[in-house]
Amino acid sequence: MSQQDTFLYALSSNNAWAGYKAHQNPNFFPKLASGQSPQILWLGCSDSRCPETVILGLQPGDVFVHRNIANIISPTDINTSAVIEYAVVHLKVKHVVLCGHTSCGGAAAALSDTRVGGVLDTWLTPLKAVRFAHQEELDAIKDDKARAVRIAELNVEAGVKVLMANFAIQDAIRERGLEVHGCLFDIGCGRIKDLGFGTKGRNGASGGLNGSSEEVVRGKHAQLAFRGGNAQMIVR
Ligand SMILES: [Zn+2]
Repeated sequence: MSQQDTFLYALSSNNAWAGYKAHQNPNFFPKLASGQSPQILWLGCSDSRCPETVILGLQPGDVFVHRNIANIISPTDINTSAVIEYAVVHLKVKHVVLCGHTSCGGAAAALSDTRVGGVLDTWLTPLKAVRFAHQEELDAIKDDKARAVRIAELNVEAGVKVLMANFAIQDAIRERGLEVHGCLFDIGCGRIKDLGFGTKGRNGASGGLNGSSEEVVRGKHAQLAFRGGNAQMIVR
């Protein structure tokens, strides 16, 4: 399929999707157009295999999103900071989810001593710093894929620390119980694992959410349950 064909296909696919959704629920688009009140802010990787609304089984209107290469949370990045502030202060989301993933190209690049070139090496610098801070542990992992998964987890842990130091997030945690979650999406099986960083981890639920702790996020068409260390989607 040529590049132009790919775009035309995408447009016709959109047309079919819009027709299907409107047929399924005539009020779907009018309701969407009336405003948004998402409960989740998703901070994830730009990777094409991690489309947050799709993998969560949710719908337009359910998730406010910022994605960048390797889901790096840098406090001086005004793009990330503006998204966080708008979602937390104005939309008053109930959950901030930072989600890394397996097979992340950014993680692989940070583990390599080869320069990618251009602005990309600058962007990946915080992830390189994570690598150097955990060099011994990472070197001990002989399997390349497992090492990339581990640095992705460490990257989420570092990002959650930055989120927990954000004043807008701190105020919302104190004033209205905002929850911050650190997760990892396993591309190989489609499951999202709660790594236990963030507000739950801070409150002493060792190693993440346990069986007695359950949090259900209700979307318009599905629910996302954080349960037993995993995030599970439940279609209503
Ligand atoms: Zn990635």
